[in-house]
Parts: sequence; C-alpha cells; structure tokens
Amino acid sequence: MTREEIMQTIEDENIQYFRLQFVDILGFMKNVAIPKSQIGKALDGDMMFDGSSIDGFVRINESDMYLKPDYNTFTVLPWRNRDGVAAARIICDVYKSDGTPFGGCPRVNLKRVLAEAREMGYTMNVGTEAEFFLFERDEDGAPTTITNDVAGYFSLDPEDMANDCRREIIETLEAMNFEIEASHHEVAEGQHEINFKYADALEAADNTVTFKWVVKSIAAKYGLHATFMPKPIFGINGSGMHTNQSLFNLDGTNAFFDESDELQLSKVAYSYIAGSLKNARGFAAVTNPLVNSYKRLVPGYEAPVYAAWSASNRSALIRIPAARGLSTRTEIRCPDPSCNPYLALAMMLNSGLDGVKNNLTPPAEVAKDIFKMSGAEMEEEGIKVMPASLKEALEELKTNPIARETLGDHIFEKYIEAKEKEWDSFRTAVTDWELDEYLTIY
Ligand code: GLU
Ligand code: MG
Ligand code: MG
Repeated sequence: MTREEIMQTIEDENIQYFRLQFVDILGFMKNVAIPKSQIGKALDGDMMFDGSSIDGFVRINESDMYLKPDYNTFTVLPWRNRDGVAAARIICDVYKSDGTPFGGCPRVNLKRVLAEAREMGYTMNVGTEAEFFLFERDEDGAPTTITNDVAGYFSLDPEDMANDCRREIIETLEAMNFEIEASHHEVAEGQHEINFKYADALEAADNTVTFKWVVKSIAAKYGLHATFMPKPIFGINGSGMHTNQSLFNLDGTNAFFDESDELQLSKVAYSYIAGSLKNARGFAAVTNPLVNSYKRLVPGYEAPVYAAWSASNRSALIRIPAARGLSTRTEIRCPDPSCNPYLALAMMLNSGLDGVKNNLTPPAEVAKDIFKMSGAEMEEEGIKVMPASLKEALEELKTNPIARETLGDHIFEKYIEAKEKEWDSFRTAVTDWELDEYLTIY
C-alpha cells in the first residue's frame, strides 16, 4: 500500500481512530491511539512515544522512540466500526531518536535476521497454527476455565454460541484480507484452530499477533474469553502453535524440494532439519516462554517431548507434511501460542540455517512411536528430550551458541532477565498442588 492509498481509504471509510501498533519483547501488542489530525504525521514516521513506559524496552535516559509504520500492515478494524465511524491500525518498527532502528524491537530484529538469510540466498515462508480455548466468563465477567461447549449454563445454546463466535472471527479475519484455509474444533473440549495462508516470515509474524488480537476481541463480544495460554487445563490437550516453515530460493523455487530424493527432500531441507534439532533445546525458552508452557510438553497430549523428526509421526518434534513441490515444508510442533512470534521465527530460522551453513546431516527419521521407546533406544537413535521446565530451557538459551547473535544483545539480555524473574516468582510461590498434597498429611 502507498501513503496515498492509505489516505484515500481513511477518507472513503470515514476512519476517525487510528492505532499505531508495535510488539514488546514478551510479544505483547502495544497501541498508541491517535486522532485523525495526527495521521499524516504518523504515516511520515514522526510519532514519538516514551519507550521507558514499556517494560524491558529502554532506560529512562534514552526513552524517546519513534514509530515507523509499515504501510503494508495498514488495515481497517471491522469490529470497531460504530455507526459508520471506523478505526484502523498500522504496525510499526521502533526507531531510536537518532533515527536508527532500535535493536530492542522484535520486529526490527526479525527483519535483520531475514536480511542475513537473504544474503545467503534464502527467504523464509511460514504458516502458524495457533490453537486456543474459548472459555465462559463468570457473573462478574472474569474468565473461568469452564469450556463453553460442555458447561454452557450461561447461555441457552452454548454450542451455537461457540460456532457463531468462530464464524465471526473468520469473517473478521477475511475482511482484514486473511485467506482462511480451514477452521475446526480441536481435540480438547472448547479448543479451536483456524488456519490461514502462509506468508513470508515477517508477514506471518504480523499475521500471528493480529490473529490473536482478533480472536480475543471477537470472543469478548460474545461474552467469552479466548486464551492462548499453552496448558489451561490439566488432563486434556494444551494449545500448540505448530509452525510450518520452508526456505525459498531467491528465484521463487522451494529450496526444500528435490524430486530425486527418496522423500523428495533436498540436502538443504535435511540440513535445516538437523540444525533445528540441534538447537531445539536452545530455542525452547523462546518458542515455549512460560512456566506453564512446560506443562504442555509432556507425553500423552499430542505435544512433542523429544527432539526427533519424522515424515509422518505426530509424536516427533518435527513432522514433514505430505505436500511437496512449492508446499514442501517442515512443521515444528513445539512452539506454543504464548510465544513472541518475531523472536520465535528468528530463533527457528537461524537454528535451521546453522544446519545449512555447517552442512549438518540429521539423525535417521524416527518412524516408531517415540513414547514407546526405552531410554536406551532413544540414546542409540540420538534423540534428546526437550527441557522439562522454563528454568532448564533458560539455561539452554543462555549457553546456546546462536541465541545471542540471533536475538541481538538488547533482547537477549532483557528477555533472560524477565524470564528469570518469572521463574523465580513461580519457584517461590506455594501452589494448590502443594496444599492438596501436603497440608493434610504433614
Ligand atoms: N494440541 C496439540 C498440541 O498441544 C496439537 C494437536 C494437533 O495435532 O493439532 O500441540
Ligand atoms: Mg491443531
Ligand atoms: Mg499441525
């Protein structure tokens, strides 16, 4: 989109409210709302905000930041239209007051990593599958973990309410130019998945944060609470964000496809898989960022526990979906939808490229059900276990050879600092589990 086209849309659609959005280190979307009179200034990238008000962004003495909008992300917000008065948003990169891109902005950082990949001759295509739950709210409007389709005592026909809600989510996304490919009820009660078309990595990250925002906003309209928390309920499936990824050559061909190979995968694909497996324990703290993320990565719930790959097996960390040609891709199954997609994609891309640069060969494909293998068998096949806790994942992130370079100094340090605080707060909390187990018998 050009500046002129945006200005025209603003007139045509009567847009009176305009939001400048950017994403912080933890992946939260931030909004600066501006009145119509400021839109020209905003489109020129001259809007300033106070960076010190955002957790982990900057120190007080360097707090003036600029928001540089990416015109391609301009979109009208269909659910904000009130009596013909419309609202729109645009996603921005954060720049420092000296006019240079800010290394603490995850979007700026992903662009840098993608530019480096392009130097190597590759672009990255990504499709994310963010699962979520729709929960009831209680009388006071607070979210519960009551799944709307089983309990549903707040409405006459809860099944319809979830369906209507999902339909409006899809219609809203379509109005925002998402190409929806499929939508289905997931394995768990109250759990949903809506798939939209893959895009280049930057657009895919933008789409992922937008998707989560739309889902939550529309659910709220229906009096429901949508959550992307990885494991809200013990004993049933958690929510993953399987991430389909492929490298493309600059001539537009898929670098993972090779017709002559037994599995029709190229040398680059095998090396990418090898690099992903090699660094999986290292990137887990980014793809699975919460204390709660590790309650999902346990046996029995279709979430991966072991770092292995397979052309078919869903218990593996990396699956190779059957499609070939331009659709040849790896599906990395560990990420969950609480991750910051800009950071997660940067880490997964550089992990795979680590394999490509160093010509790595992956261990043999695992065709058996890994959950039925013994420890000795796993060791023999070179299968590593994913971290069991955020603490373990953070230790791996700190010592991973590509992490600092991939995230940049600022994000690397601030991220670890924030996550160590989170771990410490969990470690010292007294949980319901402890009270249930210990209070009576000791
Ligand atoms: N919900 C599962 C997970 O935690 C994935 C189910 C599926 O294969 O879509 O990853
Ligand atoms: Mg799914
Ligand atoms: Mg999947």
